[in-house]
Formats: sequence, structure tokens, C-alpha cells
Amino acid sequence: MTFRLANVAGRAALVDDQDRWHDLEQVAAGHLSSDPMAALGHLDLLHELSARLDDTTVGGPLAEATLGAPVPRPRNVFAVGLNYLDHAAESAMTPPAVPLVFTKFPSCIVGPTADVALRTQTGDHEVELVVVIGRTARDVSEADAWDHVAGVTVGQDVSDRGLQFAAAPPHFDLGKSRDTFGPMGPVLVSTDGVPDRDDLAITCDVNGTRYQDDRTSGMIFSVPQLIAYLSGILTLDTGDVIFTGTPAGVGAAARRFLQPGDVIVSTIEGIGTMTNRCTA
Ligand code: ZN
Repeated sequence: MTFRLANVAGRAALVDDQDRWHDLEQVAAGHLSSDPMAALGHLDLLHELSARLDDTTVGGPLAEATLGAPVPRPRNVFAVGLNYLDHAAESAMTPPAVPLVFTKFPSCIVGPTADVALRTQTGDHEVELVVVIGRTARDVSEADAWDHVAGVTVGQDVSDRGLQFAAAPPHFDLGKSRDTFGPMGPVLVSTDGVPDRDDLAITCDVNGTRYQDDRTSGMIFSVPQLIAYLSGILTLDTGDVIFTGTPAGVGAAARRFLQPGDVIVSTIEGIGTMTNRCTA
């Protein structure tokens, strides 16, 4: 049974097929804590409990809940640059021969409705599929890679282009880690809950105009390839997340940057939509 895990006001919750949330600690009769990070260590139980939500107390409609990031305190946040051919082309960069990996420092992670505090004239949007590790992965093969994934969610790799390219070579890490530059959500969906985990429609609108519109099958390095590559270098563990790269259509290519008041809407098929407003 598919699970959809949400963070409702800091507490883990399971979402039923009518988009209502149920407090996880209550659903599990106290056998699981309310900490969304702890829930990631009990994937089998999350699947089991999701089949029994009809018998448990409804917390309320997900649409009316105060949502935090489904993975609020990731252990590591990996991000992949230039992982779609068209985006590498619009960035006037050569497609990488191996995954181009940087980090978003975990302190930038916020929820799916959080404001993005720009603090820059050169802020930009990057909608991305975010993969959340649920089982320890060390030297994992591509064939086994998905077995180590708890689920997938939507992420925004908000980027300060001026800061990103202020140093030479560029310091991607800082340029993508300003406070609030990592919205994530609305829910974490187990991979059996999306139509095709290797091929999902992904879009980003700003103020109602669609700028990014692609499919995750367009990645240069697929999710299994990224997990195999990373796990050959270091151990991936429960609560690590991977921002898997953004398709073409970012603002920088057109010298169009985010302004205070802009509304970023990020959607991935089978997962949901995040709406984040920019502030100064
Ligand atoms: Zn990115």
C-alpha cells in the first residue's frame, strides 16, 4: 500500500486517499514517535499503517494543514547540477561526464508553503524531483537503487546566481543555501504511489506563467545512476535527500530573476504542488 507522509505543524502524519491527514503517532498507537525524521526509519510500517487509515482519527484536510518539509532535518542534502541536456545548453555549459554534485546546506530546507526570502537581486527557480533515502546504501547497484529510497517529493533548488558565480570556480553550495532556499513537499510519496518513478511530468510556474515543463526521464543521470554513483563514494543513510537537477527554463538564461511578491508554483505528477511566495 502506497504511503504519503506529511509534516503537519512539526508532527509526522499519513495522508489518506481523500487527502485527509492522520497523526502518525496516533495511527501507530504510540509505537512510532511524532518526529517526521524518525518515521523514515520504519518504511514497512508506514506501508502497513496506510492500509488501515479508515479506522483512525482524521486530523483534517491536508489543504488546510500547516505543512513543514516532509524531511525537515535531512542528514545530507545532495544536489545535482546540469542533469538535463536542455538546461546544460541554456546555461552554456558542457553536459557533465560524471554527476556534478554539490550540497544545499540542510539549514536551507523549509516547507511547501514557506516564503522564500530572496535577499538578492539574482534569485532564480529550479524545480526538481527530490529523492529521500530510506535504507542505508553503500556500493549499491543501479538495479537495486530504488529499493533504498523511502519516497519522492517536490523540491525547489532556489539559487542566487550572483552569489553562485561570485567565486571562480563557482561556489554552488553557498549560492543555493541561503535561508529558505530549499522548499520541499507537500508530501513524501512512496515510489509505488507515482505513475512511473522514472518518468514523471515536472513543471514550474512563476506568477502563472509556465517556465519549466519537462519529464524526469530527461535526466542525464537517472535516479538509479545517481544513487549507484554516490553510494560508491560514501554511505547514503536514512534521511539523506538528493535534489536530482532541474530541467530547462530557469530565469537566468533569460536574465529574468525572482522579485519580491513573485509566486513560484512547483508541481510533479503523482506527488503534488508547492506554492512559495518570494519576499525581499
Ligand atoms: Zn538545481
